Amino acid sequence: MIRMNENYLKLQASYLFSEIAKRVNAYQEKNPDQKIIRLGIGDVTRALPATCIEAFHKAVDEMAQDATFRGYGPEQGYAFLREKIAESDFRSRGADISADEVFISDGAKCDTGNFQELFALDTRIAVPDPVYPVYVDTNVMAGRTAAWKEGRYEGLVYLESTDANDYIPTLPKEKVDVIYLCFPNNPTGRTVTKDQLRPWVDYAREHRALILYDAAYVAFIRDDSLPQSIYEIAGAQEVAVEFRSFSKTAGFTGTRCAYTVIPRRCQVYDSQGSPHSLHALWDRRQSTKFNGVSYPIQRAAEAVFSPAGQRQVRELSDYYLANAALIREALGKLGFKCVGGDHAPYVWVKANMDSWKFFDLLLQKAGVVCTPGGGFGRCGEGYIRFSAFNSQANIELALQRVSAALRSL
Ligand code: PLP
Repeated sequence: MIRMNENYLKLQASYLFSEIAKRVNAYQEKNPDQKIIRLGIGDVTRALPATCIEAFHKAVDEMAQDATFRGYGPEQGYAFLREKIAESDFRSRGADISADEVFISDGAKCDTGNFQELFALDTRIAVPDPVYPVYVDTNVMAGRTAAWKEGRYEGLVYLESTDANDYIPTLPKEKVDVIYLCFPNNPTGRTVTKDQLRPWVDYAREHRALILYDAAYVAFIRDDSLPQSIYEIAGAQEVAVEFRSFSKTAGFTGTRCAYTVIPRRCQVYDSQGSPHSLHALWDRRQSTKFNGVSYPIQRAAEAVFSPAGQRQVRELSDYYLANAALIREALGKLGFKCVGGDHAPYVWVKANMDSWKFFDLLLQKAGVVCTPGGGFGRCGEGYIRFSAFNSQANIELALQRVSAALRSL
């Protein structure tokens, strides 16, 4: 008899987006003529930058000739892309990262999800609340938690990000071994200063813990004094792994390219307390289970770092940030407290009522879809997330409708 991994039974049905889809479909059936505007899911809506497309085409043409054809590439990614990343995203900002510390992948979702495989089962894990659900669910699948109880998994440490701490969690009181952090944050849109980040690095150094730092939204940071990488904090190279993605930076959500940085100095410990290289572990994992990102896609990603590419990706994120500013302004005028949207494509709105109730209200009265904050964790209850990934025209129309609906209450 084939037995299942019963940890999967602990998972709360991936209910957030399926429940949204169910409610939206039911509404559309009843209101077939209404144009629903979706500001829920965090997927980009604009085309890939022209420079990336050009590089993509060129690389596809190379695949058409025996002389330039490429088969399996290096599992860790092509050197041409790893070099550009190390130079442009890290060394140019004073973070000492070398190309061989960068692992190219097909997504930050898989990397943030798979990384926990490298840790012992009894590793104590801290996750933000509200949280990007991948960090939690992958640890549940692996068996690092007990049952779901009162909106949380027993066995995880939740780092609360609420109005009370301005959405920057405080250090855990109990000792933890792995800490997931995400800045600019999904879902709150909040970002962090160097002074706010430093204590986390100090904590990890003191406790021989590891920070898994998700910077998938770094392209939206507009204040140059804010850290773009955790490696801008002294000592972080020994205790932090950083995840980045071309998805939101350059519109690669459907194209798939991301990377994970593991400094060679980062260590994990065996049960005897002896150190081992985390870099070597991930390298072993990737070369066993992963065969690299396709050559044309890595060429398209490389084009992001050309001068034209840099201009074009900046235009993309500027566009979404302008949308986010419109959302923030409109909701603010209606009297709602909002965070995010200034260095992130998400605006986190205090709904002053149950998140699903607010979701239903916006759907029924305005035909606008947002994401109920409760789906991201207990601390998200009472909030909703607006995504700025849509056309400006749709954002404006959505906000007109939302304003009218809420004013008429
Ligand atoms: N990390 C965070 C915080 C995200 O919000 C997302 C996507 O929404 C990802 C990672 C996934 O990125 P990718 O498209 O590279 O898998």
